[in-house]
Amino acid sequence: MSYYAGPVANLIEELSKLPGVGPKTAQRLAFYILKTAPDDAKKLARAIDEVKDKIRFCEICFNVTDQTTCEFCRNANRDHSVICVVEEPRDIVALEKTGEFKGVYHVLQGSISPIDGIGPDDIRVKELLRRLSGNEIREIIIATNPNIEGEATAMYLAKLIKPLGVKVSRIASGLPVGGDLEYADEVTLGRALEGRREM
Ligand SMILES: [Zn+2]
Repeated sequence: MSYYAGPVANLIEELSKLPGVGPKTAQRLAFYILKTAPDDAKKLARAIDEVKDKIRFCEICFNVTDQTTCEFCRNANRDHSVICVVEEPRDIVALEKTGEFKGVYHVLQGSISPIDGIGPDDIRVKELLRRLSGNEIREIIIATNPNIEGEATAMYLAKLIKPLGVKVSRIASGLPVGGDLEYADEVTLGRALEGRREM
């Protein structure tokens, strides 16, 4: 049973579905939205609408894009024979900030996590293998997060890809273990990329 009028209860319920947002935070956010100027609230609603309308996943690398392929896959000046494998599109932003990487990307959209019931078929592994079979690929750089799931995913991919005769490397440590790529500073991440080791 809810103590709030229907639309408010609705908003709280929808907000509480967001990752990291518990019932208390959802309530706080809902009341914040209630108090904001109508224009600002509508802007937020429109931004959500627009992102679902216009943004989709790149057909090649599964980065987010507003076209069929993303800016990296379309860019002829990038080295399409080196693919950096990341978990999420936001990791691409972190790697781009280092200015060290001139290849293209592959977004797994997650990592292997048996505890959460996420296996290789639930992330974009098949799609990565498909890219390897049809193209001249020199190197796969695995830049999954330096935590248990990220390491497990890296090991799994290396075992799968090495027999195909493609060089597989893993970005160097120096990244805080258990951390997320997106929170690493540019210098650390740039060095990790430079010091990658073959798997
Ligand atoms: Zn792409």
